[in-house]
Amino acid sequence: MPRADFQVVIGLEVHAQLLTSTKLFSGASTSFGGDPNAHTSIVCLGLPGVLPVLNQRAVELALSAGHALECTIAERSEWSRKHYFYPDLPKGYQITQYEFPICLGGRVVFDGPEGEKTVRLTRIHMEEDAGKLVHQGAVSLVDLNRAGTPLLEIVSEPELRSADDAVEYLKALRDVLVWVGVNDGNLEEGSFRCDANVSVMRHGATTFGTRCELKNLNSFRFIKQAIEIEASRQVELLEGGGKVEQETRLFDPQRGETRSMRSKEDAHDYRYFPDPDLPPLLLSKARIEQARQALPELPRARRRRYVEALGLPPYDAGVLTADRAMSELFERCLAEVGEAKPVSNWFMGELSRLLNETKTSVAEVKFTPTQFAAVLRAVKDGVVSGPGAKELFAELFATGKDPHAIIAEKGLAQVNDDGPLLEAIAQAMAEAPKNVESYRNGNTKIVGAFVGAVMKKLGGKGNPRRINELLVEKLKA
Ligand code: ADP
Ligand code: MG
Repeated sequence: MPRADFQVVIGLEVHAQLLTSTKLFSGASTSFGGDPNAHTSIVCLGLPGVLPVLNQRAVELALSAGHALECTIAERSEWSRKHYFYPDLPKGYQITQYEFPICLGGRVVFDGPEGEKTVRLTRIHMEEDAGKLVHQGAVSLVDLNRAGTPLLEIVSEPELRSADDAVEYLKALRDVLVWVGVNDGNLEEGSFRCDANVSVMRHGATTFGTRCELKNLNSFRFIKQAIEIEASRQVELLEGGGKVEQETRLFDPQRGETRSMRSKEDAHDYRYFPDPDLPPLLLSKARIEQARQALPELPRARRRRYVEALGLPPYDAGVLTADRAMSELFERCLAEVGEAKPVSNWFMGELSRLLNETKTSVAEVKFTPTQFAAVLRAVKDGVVSGPGAKELFAELFATGKDPHAIIAEKGLAQVNDDGPLLEAIAQAMAEAPKNVESYRNGNTKIVGAFVGAVMKKLGGKGNPRRINELLVEKLKA
């Protein structure tokens, strides 16, 4: 297909559920699942005469997100009613921020194949979610558990130029939101959702083409597929002399196509106006600044610091910052140990393996950073051997017991004294006189077999470096 002439243009609208325990304007629970309509209140049900009360926690989270994405925070934002009729919206309107959103501008930085890229944000606003319909044969049922759940809508400028970049943008955005504790990043459960606006234009064109908005993109794979399929459809249409109509299209992953949901002619007049039940949201400079100060170091900055200040390979930095809890534990262990690379090796190796194998989360880890440091010191000081250290760490991971007690209990102490080492060497040499002779005739490689034999006599606990030194001495004699 002659795609080379065309450039795809993408702008994304992300809906991210704020991690509050209650809804945006009521005390009803936001927990996922539950019996239908179990998590509702007179406010979510839209009963007459009730009044919404703004959840301040949702505002705090929106502030964190805004700062983390380098937005300008508005000292005054406003709540509007967006009117439409649908059975999952009992009030007949959605409360959202329209003319005056809480955050303006901002950016998402991500790594593309050609290096770092920045896509600017238009705005971020807060709004409430609607309920959902459950279709059962001839009837449709209404579940309002989700109605009134606080959302952030994060709107990008039309600056993305490929489906791959769109996915990288979304992953970076999700990383930041999850990192600052604003969102759980779950696409499957719908707590991180994305609509993609897609248009195409000829290379060198100065105006954008007409866009279509794609819905139903609930995995990164679908997002990539849908954008690519939609861009191809538009290119084919234009090349065939046709015209792209502005419309909302639904991605059908089974058929691998997008199809029209509603055209521009069906566009609603939402009759936005400021909600008379809610005063404007006023944020003092001090409160905005306080939220900025409270922000943790963000994953990209931390990755850079790990490479530049700690001297870790970029790969290590990526693994260690993939998860905030993991990274925080690394920080605390590093503070005790002082040297980054050994800590990183243990985290990427044994710790990750044990966490996976036992399906344990970092939050459930039983050892303290001091205990972790004691294991590394035991290795460094030759108190335990390499394999012994692994056994020691596994036991520490399982029990959280004092590492020195584990070494004593499990007999993990490495034999460093020359006495027992020489005894074992003498035995091993006496048992294999031919090998001794072979060594003395120049086959120095055979020392390996002796190390193995000596180690076996010592139950694997001999200090291998010292065994080697002593063996060479004795074999030469
Ligand atoms: P609406 O409110 O109808 O969705 P907006 O103007 O808010 O319209 O735009 C929504 C999204 O569409 C934004 O993310 C924006 O970047 C994107 N967008 C606007 N024009 C285009 C275009 N020509 N091609 C691709 N995306 C676009
Ligand atoms: Mg839109």
